[in-house]
Amino acid sequence: SHDATATDGWIRRFAESARATEGRLTSLDQQVGDGDFGTNLTAGADAAVRRLDRIPADGTDPAAPLEAAATAFLDEVGGTSGPLFGLLLQSLAAAVAASGPTTAAYAEGVADGLAAIRRVGDAAPGDKTLVDALAPAAEALRGTSADTSVDQALADAAEAAWEGVRSTARLRARMGRSSYLGERAEGIPDPGAVGVGLLFASAQGVVS
Ligand code: ADP
Ligand code: MG
Ligand code: MG
Repeated sequence: SHDATATDGWIRRFAESARATEGRLTSLDQQVGDGDFGTNLTAGADAAVRRLDRIPADGTDPAAPLEAAATAFLDEVGGTSGPLFGLLLQSLAAAVAASGPTTAAYAEGVADGLAAIRRVGDAAPGDKTLVDALAPAAEALRGTSADTSVDQALADAAEAAWEGVRSTARLRARMGRSSYLGERAEGIPDPGAVGVGLLFASAQGVVS
């Protein structure tokens, strides 16, 4: 169906943009972390695509590609970010499975993913983590009226996420490896936040 094609395409575009950005993500994580974020994100996205390739081509469940991607990140990616992206994708899959691929479902999925990530990682907005991209995206979706198209809502979420990414460059880290750097991490955006920006930017075309 069209809806399953849309979420399948989202994950495949995410994998393409992760691959295209891998060098830049590696460089960012070399500056504020241990240099493996580009590898971790690409590994997760590639593992997700391998799982998509095993879903029947006539699949009609729009949640299935999101669930496949969640499992890939949760089961196959090391680092701090693998399970966190897994939780976000799992929350998106659960909301779409419960309510269909609607604007409201995506808003709920992102809000639930943010809550799960904050529960597990204990980072607050302003700690210079991917939460600083995800929280504004969730906020943008929360304010979206139900008659906004999924495509437009996720475009608004992407714009908010990129604004959040830019804000991380002005922040000093309090969580994760980059917190050891103190003020030396100022001026450099958080790599995980960039990854979240890429995820929402890849959603363009997820029409319902
Ligand atoms: P690692 O630090 O284990 O090598 P990755 O390189 O895979 O992890 O991911 C780093 C990203 O994980 C950071 O850029 C940040 O966005 C995110 N991150 C780190 N710690 C946390 C946390 N406690 N909560 C939310 N996100 C976090
Ligand atoms: Mg790292
Ligand atoms: Mg690491």
